[in-house]
Amino acid sequence: MKVVVVGAGLAGLSAARRLVASGVEVEVLEARERVGGRTLNHVFADGSIVEVGGQWVGPTQDHALALIDELGLTTFDTYDEGDYIVSLKGKIKKFTGDTFGLPPHVLVEVGISQKRLERMAAKVPLDEPWTSPKATEWDGQTLETWLRQHLRFEQSRDFWRAITAAIFSAEATEISLLHFLFYCHSGGMLDRLMGTAEGAQKSRIVGGSQLISETMANQLGNHLHLNEPVVSISQTSSGVTVRTTQSEYSADAVIVTIPQHLIGAIAFTPPLPTARQQLVQNVPMGAVIKTVATYETPFWRDNNMAGFGVSLDHPVSITFDNSPPDGQSGMLVGFFEGAHARKASSLSVQERREIFLNTLVDLFGPAAASPIEVVELDWTAEQWSGGCYGGHLGPGVWTQLGKELCRPFGLVEWAGTETAAKWNGYMDGAISSGYLAADRVIAKSRT
Ligand code: FAD
Repeated sequence: MKVVVVGAGLAGLSAARRLVASGVEVEVLEARERVGGRTLNHVFADGSIVEVGGQWVGPTQDHALALIDELGLTTFDTYDEGDYIVSLKGKIKKFTGDTFGLPPHVLVEVGISQKRLERMAAKVPLDEPWTSPKATEWDGQTLETWLRQHLRFEQSRDFWRAITAAIFSAEATEISLLHFLFYCHSGGMLDRLMGTAEGAQKSRIVGGSQLISETMANQLGNHLHLNEPVVSISQTSSGVTVRTTQSEYSADAVIVTIPQHLIGAIAFTPPLPTARQQLVQNVPMGAVIKTVATYETPFWRDNNMAGFGVSLDHPVSITFDNSPPDGQSGMLVGFFEGAHARKASSLSVQERREIFLNTLVDLFGPAAASPIEVVELDWTAEQWSGGCYGGHLGPGVWTQLGKELCRPFGLVEWAGTETAAKWNGYMDGAISSGYLAADRVIAKSRT
């Protein structure tokens, strides 16, 4: 059997690896000049490596952790000692735990609303969110609508708005409540999504997360084709022809692993079913610009600061210590997310750099003004992503079109993190989606 895999991100390469292990002949077609998709390493002048795309893995991300191990890679923990910093109503405060420096009445309301959202999230089936008992009601509103109806204090609403942007790189006004609940359940609830020590931000890969894809790609040899955007997929009952801007490939099946909205740019013959065409128009990507500054030392650690900062006052709303494992040099990473990213996208690199460094100075002191180097990536400007971290579903989409996400189209199977039930939107979800699609293709070939 011969299978073409479209996209050499984590989903595509995991699918290809699993197929090859089952003796299937595979060709992987990738639009970019590199592998890794939404993961990308950057090497600073001193040789230290940092990621400008996806980077953290954490507990319960079993597929990612197992793959890292299988590939002979290792992880190290995110530095998480000392005080956290918050900028709230123009004031900079230190905090520990998950209090975020919020006033007591707001903290109580946030705690109650978190428990309530988590109870609701637990009722959303991960394989079929549209079947949850209140799917129609929850998918008929945005998260913002729910926050306005159920929270009394504007500061509590602002807290959830900031957390939403940090998790989705999209605004509470854009996301269906059902999608928010599904996503929380998918990642093991809110503390897991937000947390460092026991959460999704726990560890990083030594050498950078792109190494996962690069290592898998090396094992594919000349069956990986870079700079080959797929432009059309034609199928008959007996086979598929995939055309790229360079060449043409025949196969018995195809696995498409690209972001949903980019599926719409491929010409399918016969055309995609109506519902599927509608779906791909309805999974927009979030907006994020990730920026990393490198310093001689992690100076904030000397002042007992963890490097974790949250700001409800700055366009860079979240920061972490992103230093290399040996902690010899210091790195701080910050994110422009959602509306902030869209606005910052029209600024010059220099203007964004100033905003970023001013934020770091406010949070961590004047030493932050003098980095050795700064690197950023505006994912909204990336042709083959169209935004990040991932695609989200607005009101009405899960209930009307959600079924289509994984429904095969003849000999075409779908994968990619947006199709994952567990850790949807994360590297782990991408990897498991690739395995599942490969398993479906293998199972079909045996019937
Ligand atoms: P992609 O990585 O998007 O792969 C799809 C591939 O298909 C790409 O290589 C693309 O170039 C290619 N392609 C597109 N169109 C075509 C075409 N027509 N023909 C051929 N090829 C095509 N996740 C985490 O788990 N932890 C994190 O800390 C984290 N942080 C993030 C931070 C940022 C700034 C970003 C951008 C993402 C982050 N993520 C994180 C999300 C994570 O990176 C993604 O979920 C994951 O990498 C998606 O993998 P994928 O294979 O599903 O999709």
